[in-house]
Amino acid sequence: MIKTVNLTKRFGSVPVFENINFEVQKGEKVVIVGPSGAGKSTFLRCLNALELPTSGEIYYEGRLITPKTNLNKLREEIGMVFQHFNLFPHLTALQNVMLGPVVVKKMDKNLARDIAVNYLKKVGLGHRLNHYPKELSGGEKQRVAIARALAMEPKLMLFDEPTSALDIEMIQEVLDVMKEIAENGMTMVVVTHEISFAKEVADRVIFMADGRIVEEGNPLEFFESPQTDRARKFLRSVL
Ligand code: ADP
Ligand code: MG
Repeated sequence: MIKTVNLTKRFGSVPVFENINFEVQKGEKVVIVGPSGAGKSTFLRCLNALELPTSGEIYYEGRLITPKTNLNKLREEIGMVFQHFNLFPHLTALQNVMLGPVVVKKMDKNLARDIAVNYLKKVGLGHRLNHYPKELSGGEKQRVAIARALAMEPKLMLFDEPTSALDIEMIQEVLDVMKEIAENGMTMVVVTHEISFAKEVADRVIFMADGRIVEEGNPLEFFESPQTDRARKFLRSVL
């Protein structure tokens, strides 16, 4: 589905990550964990071309992404959910979810509304259609953001610490929605420190630190018996 070869990103002369070789198969769920500053967010942002890599290659569905690639089309197919929701405050839940299909896909408004209502119901927000973000809880806002990503019918979804900004009692409702998306077969890359989610959902865990992939493997093995001191130290800090 997506693959990187020697992907490297620097801001000026400061390296964020170097020579990342990463691959996700269709339908696979990959969890990325690692300390703050490891380069996880920047890496995800490179995958859907919100950020340009300094060097290296990205292949999407087998095709190299080049300056000629239609990046808008790529971003349509790769949905992203952010830590801080990034909803438009002046739009209702329904309008937030309709916006992509109407503006980007030029979809008929009535059809976009039906699709948006459908996805908002799927994330358990059928009763919040006309609420503004400020009238919603953190968990509800994040579920609107997930519905918004789903409404574009992406082929791949990237989640960047989707529960890190939430009060503890709202984390599970968001993880439950993500679990359902996973069960429906979506290809997913999830940056999260929710270890029980990773154990239950991930096919593979990647441990990123200091701008590189330090360990990679089966989630149960990684969390039960990490192979490197760096990973052990990190896991002690989050468990
Ligand atoms: P993580 O998500 O793992 O915490 P990030 O990808 O957010 O890591 O950041 C990795 C490093 O890149 C950090 O040191 C951060 O300060 C730096 N960084 C991120 N974005 C920028 C930017 N736009 N300009 C300069 N440095 C940045
Ligand atoms: Mg981050």
